[in-house]
Amino acid sequence: MSLNFKSFIKLAGERNPNEPEFIQAVAEVTEDLIPYINEHHPEWNKLKILERIIEPERIISFSVNWLDDNNEVQINRGYRVQMNSAIGPYKGGLRFSPTVNLSILKFLAFEQVFKNSLTGIPLGGGKGGSDFDPKGKSDSEIMRFCQSFMTALYRHIGSETDVPAGDIGVGEREIGFLFGQYKRLQNNFTGVLTGKGKFWGGSNIRPEATGYGLLYFVSNILNLQGESLKGKRIAISGAGNVAFYAAEKAIELGATVITLSNSTGTLNDPEGFDAQKLSSIKGLGRDLSKYCETYSAASFHADKNPWHFPCDIALPCATQNELNEEDAKRLIENGCIGVAEGANMPSTAEAVQQFHTHKIFFAPGKAANAGGVAVSGLEMSQNRMGEQWESDRVDDKLKQIMENIHQTCVRYGKDNDGYINYLRGANIGGFVKVAAAMKSQGV
Ligand code: GLU
Repeated sequence: MSLNFKSFIKLAGERNPNEPEFIQAVAEVTEDLIPYINEHHPEWNKLKILERIIEPERIISFSVNWLDDNNEVQINRGYRVQMNSAIGPYKGGLRFSPTVNLSILKFLAFEQVFKNSLTGIPLGGGKGGSDFDPKGKSDSEIMRFCQSFMTALYRHIGSETDVPAGDIGVGEREIGFLFGQYKRLQNNFTGVLTGKGKFWGGSNIRPEATGYGLLYFVSNILNLQGESLKGKRIAISGAGNVAFYAAEKAIELGATVITLSNSTGTLNDPEGFDAQKLSSIKGLGRDLSKYCETYSAASFHADKNPWHFPCDIALPCATQNELNEEDAKRLIENGCIGVAEGANMPSTAEAVQQFHTHKIFFAPGKAANAGGVAVSGLEMSQNRMGEQWESDRVDDKLKQIMENIHQTCVRYGKDNDGYINYLRGANIGGFVKVAAAMKSQGV
């Protein structure tokens, strides 16, 4: 029994209408998985493993009503997509952004299944969030929103059921408000969320983990090529946690970071950022252009994304589909040797095609940014044991996990000519354990 990619995607599209991001992610994964299953595990087709893995086990949707500072009632939508629990409790972040919809959360939850499996920690996949826009809201409004959100969600999650964390728009402050409300409702101090503050159950290195892990992964790729990060020029997009800690680690490892960005535009410093410059950017809020008043070699470009600036390595760390085919072509023409995703699916399918055709390395988010959820997994272990591990211990484990993921990608992604298709490696490497677990657990 063998599956056909085109008819599989057609059917998936019909079953999930108006969900372009979800179908994009499903196509990106199943294009690699279908030939692999047909050749190595046709018995999985009979069990309809692929048809089942793209169907969320449960979707929870709820309204979040809250009072703003003018005492007016505001209404938002909240969701939790519990995608797959074959190898562990659902795990994945919460995103608060006006762009959030079910298609985006299903794509993120789907990617999370493969990413979490790649970490080697027993974690299932999920994702959630709300169309709430945290921009411009006061601390009290954020608190009231988070409390209402958790009042609706708490009955569906638990430390051994579903463990949310942060994502875009959800950081330590929001996790604190959400955790406080969970504790009030359940009278239970438990590891139900990760990304907690260090003094109340959080793990050392969790805030840094996604960005640091990304650079460890890139180092592994370069080492295999007999190269290193020393002297490489790196363009980074984003100005959140992932982007900042990626920049910090890249600089520490000897690279020159030349861009950061947010939705208002791109900041380019051809001389490269250093630790002091990075901390000055943190103080600027959203107005990155102010940086140029202090550092005159730098420039701010409201109309350009970071992929306009020649670099050796591009690290998209902002959001989905922020690097398109045209950007990919320009990067390659300008001598870029590789792209590693700090964000989830920031490169469009056409851009990825360009990277593969021109055989520059492409490290997909589900492998390259898995450090965040990996340290979340370590946070869960610490919570279960009632321990807190030293930073060095967590960082060493993070390095080891990223190295293991890299090895898995090489194992399943090596082409005959020696080129490593990290996307195929991550897709197959993440999938095999989940499929085997689904088979073991019956229909
Ligand atoms: N939101 C992060 C991700 O995309 C982290 C999830 C987590 O720690 O559970 O992987």
